[in-house]
Amino acid sequence: MRGAVLHAPGDVRFEERDDPKIIDPADAVIRTVATCVCGSDLWDYRGINPVEGPTPFGHEYVGIVEEVGGEVSTLRPGQFVVGSFFASDNTCANCRNGYQTNCLHREFVGAGGCQAERIRIPLADGTLVATPDQPAEEHIPSLLACSDVMGTGWYAAVAAEVGPGDTVAVVGDGAVGLCAVIAAKELGASRIIAMSRHEPRQKLAREFGATDIVAERDEEGVARVKEMTGGIGADRVLECVGTEQSMRQALRSTRPGGNIGFVGVPHGVAVDGTELFYSHVGLRGGPAPVREFLPDLIDRVLTGRIDPGRVFDLTLPLEQVADAYRAMDERRAIKALLKP
Ligand SMILES: [Zn+2]
Repeated sequence: MRGAVLHAPGDVRFEERDDPKIIDPADAVIRTVATCVCGSDLWDYRGINPVEGPTPFGHEYVGIVEEVGGEVSTLRPGQFVVGSFFASDNTCANCRNGYQTNCLHREFVGAGGCQAERIRIPLADGTLVATPDQPAEEHIPSLLACSDVMGTGWYAAVAAEVGPGDTVAVVGDGAVGLCAVIAAKELGASRIIAMSRHEPRQKLAREFGATDIVAERDEEGVARVKEMTGGIGADRVLECVGTEQSMRQALRSTRPGGNIGFVGVPHGVAVDGTELFYSHVGLRGGPAPVREFLPDLIDRVLTGRIDPGRVFDLTLPLEQVADAYRAMDERRAIKALLKP
């Protein structure tokens, strides 16, 4: 089979790789129906994370089960499945508490590279969720979004405890930030402030439910949010970037007693303990336990309540994966969908 391999910063190749096999009886092998490039893949592509030799890449996927190991009991070949980037048993204490990305037996599905024609999924029973039927073609982008960005945006809102009537500010207008707008709306926020400087992303944020746009950044952005909230800041702030600047902006845009959900993978973020202490702001984040939300999110997609697949503004054949990275790196695309 063929798949994407990152050889060095800026050098993604689509090349022949070993066919994935059942290694453990809890594994499944799926045939990829759609995969995509994640904003977090760009950290490696840009050389911000070190690239140590050729690495299979990608961690977002939907597919059809081809083969299951002897211990897999809930899945059968032919089913359409959505899974998270971390495999989880979905039975240990951390999973039962809703933190499957901290499963005591977790494995990173992306380690095998999901931008590929086939993928081995460890702990298949706990990791994959099958749709009731084969989904319509039009639902596939949104189901793919559930495998990471929609689940991550949802977790940002859950971690910040978004509820009915809240004023929510979203820092970051990438695919996760846009999905966080959807999540805030679904969880009942009455005012959603999207912080974005890019016109096409502002437009999509509004279509997803944002009521206000703030184009300013840093202290000016903070000042705008405070102006809009009686001088105190938003009830909930969803930080979807992962930089020092975005975290500072989130912290200073939250009202005393409010919460931040942070889901941008931190790169060089340091939070000042004294500032946090005096802010009265609650912080919770981490890799989203997407598996916890998948059944609900899949249902919302299939019933037409949400359409997060609209974050994909570029679709390419999987063999053009290098073009997909370039387009996202140059910000010509919000998110690129790849079809084997
Ligand atoms: Zn577990």
